[in-house]
Amino acid sequence: MKIRDLYLQNSLTKQKEKFVPITDGYVGLYVCGPTVYSDVHLGNVRTFVSFDIIYRYLLYIGYKVRYVRNITDVGHLLDDGEDRISKGARIEKLEPMEVVQKYTNGFHHMMSIFNTMKPSIEPRATQHILEQIEMVQSILDNGYAYVVDGSVYFDTFKFQEDKKCYGDLSGRVIEELMTETRADLKKQDQKKHSSDFAIWMKAEPDHLMKWNSPWSVGFPGWHLECSVMSTKYLGKTFDIHGGGNDLKFPHHENEIAQNIGSCGCAPCNTWLHTNMLLMNGKKMSKSDGNTISPDELFTGDSPHVSKGYTPMVVKFFMLQSHYSSTLDLTDDALAAAEKAYKRLMESIKTLSLLKHKSTGDSLDAEINKPLDDFLDHMSDDFNTPRAIASLFDVVTKINSLKEGHLNLSQLSDTCFNRLTKHFPEYISDVLGLQLETDGDSNNSALESVMELVLDLRQEARANKDWSTADKIRDGLAKSNIVVKDGKEGSHWSFN
Ligand code: AMP
Ligand code: ZN
Repeated sequence: MKIRDLYLQNSLTKQKEKFVPITDGYVGLYVCGPTVYSDVHLGNVRTFVSFDIIYRYLLYIGYKVRYVRNITDVGHLLDDGEDRISKGARIEKLEPMEVVQKYTNGFHHMMSIFNTMKPSIEPRATQHILEQIEMVQSILDNGYAYVVDGSVYFDTFKFQEDKKCYGDLSGRVIEELMTETRADLKKQDQKKHSSDFAIWMKAEPDHLMKWNSPWSVGFPGWHLECSVMSTKYLGKTFDIHGGGNDLKFPHHENEIAQNIGSCGCAPCNTWLHTNMLLMNGKKMSKSDGNTISPDELFTGDSPHVSKGYTPMVVKFFMLQSHYSSTLDLTDDALAAAEKAYKRLMESIKTLSLLKHKSTGDSLDAEINKPLDDFLDHMSDDFNTPRAIASLFDVVTKINSLKEGHLNLSQLSDTCFNRLTKHFPEYISDVLGLQLETDGDSNNSALESVMELVLDLRQEARANKDWSTADKIRDGLAKSNIVVKDGKEGSHWSFN
C-alpha cells in the first residue's frame, strides 16, 4: 500500500507542513515521558493517549515507527531545588529507585487501562548517565558551556550570538528571560546570564542520586536526558518530537540548544505539542481542589461527576477534541460522550449482523465517502474530532442499511467488504477504542483485584509475615489461581 500523504502542524515553524520522513517508509518518534514520583494524572493521560493515536495512525498508514518514550527518574527538580524522585523517596520512606518502580508500574497500568500501545523503547534517564556526561563534555568542547564550582551551565548568550535560534520554539526572547527560572534558582549567582541553565549539577553531600563526573559528584540537568536518549535511539536529527505544551519552555527549548550545541544540528524536523486538560473551565490543579483522579472518574467517587465513566468513554471523550486544543472535562460532556460512544459500539454489532448479497453498486460512493473522509481527517494533523464525525456519518448509513432506507444489495462486494473491515478497524486499530462488553469489564476488574491481592501478599512477604503470604497463596489456589514468585515479583495465572 502506498503511504498516504500526511500534514502536521509543526510547533517550531507554526506552519502546517507536508510530512516528509528522513528515511522513506520509516518514522522516528520521541515523546517526553512521565516523571515517576507520583500517580499519573488525567492531564498526563490526555497527552499520552494523543501520542498513542499518532503512533497508531502512522503504523496504520504503513510506516515502520520507532517510538521512544522515556521515563524521567532523575534531574527533574522542584522549584525549591529538590529532585522530584528524592522528595518522593523522603516522604514515602522508600529507596529512590523504589519510588521510580512504583510509579512506573502505576503509569504502565494506567496506560493499559486506556488501551495504549507500548513504545518501542522506554529508556530511563539514570540508565544513560555516561552518555549524558559525554554530551556535557561535547557542549563544553564546542564552547557553549562553562564550569563553575563543579556545576556546568549552558551559555545561552554565546549560543544565541552564534546560532541565533534560542527561543524560536517557545517564542521567549532571551533578553527578557527573568531570573525566577526554576530549580537551580539558588545557583543563580553562579550563572553568567539568568537564562543560562544547568546541564550538570554538583550535588550537596546529602543529595541522594549522584554520580562521578569530570566536574563533580553530581547529577545531570533534566533537559539533557531527552537530548541524549533521542539522539542515541533515533539519531542526531529524527522526524517527530512530542510532549505537552507546558514543556515547550524551558524543557524543549533547552533540548534544542543542547543538541545544536553538541552536534550542530537540530534534534528533529517536526515538533508536536498537545494542549492542556482543564476541568470545568479551569486548569486541573490539586491545590484548589479542581482535580479528579482516573480512578475517581471510573468509580464516580468525586463531587465533580454524577456517576462513573468507563476508561473507553473517557478516552472517546478525549478524542472528541483535537490534541492541540484545550480539553475541558465536565460531567455533561462526559455524559454526552458516553451516549455517543455507545451508539458507535452498537453500530459495529449492527454491521456484523447485516446479510449482504450484491446486485449493484449504486450506493458505493455513499459509503466510501465517509470512510475516505475519516482517513483524510486523520491525515490532516490527526484531526480526531472530524474523523469521529465521519465515523458517525458511517453509523447513519449502517442504521439506514439495517432499516432498509438504503438498499444493501446496491453495495458492491468490494465496498461491503471494505465497510465491514475498515469501519471496525478505524475504531479499534486507529483510535484504540475497545468494545466494552460485560466480559471485558469483568476481566479488567479481575486484573485490578489480583493486582491488589498480590500487592498485599508482597507487603506480607516484605514484613516476613509468611503465614499471611501463604494464606493468600493457598486461598487463591482453591480458586484455581496459581501464584509464581520470580525475581521481578509475583505473577498469577489460572491453573
Ligand atoms: P510530567 O510527568 O509532569 O513530566 O508530565 C508528563 C507529560 O504530561 C508531559 O508531556 C506534560 O506536558 C503532560 N501534561 C502534564 N499536565 C498536563 C495537563 N494538565 N494536560 C495535558 N498534558 C499534561
Ligand atoms: Zn523531555
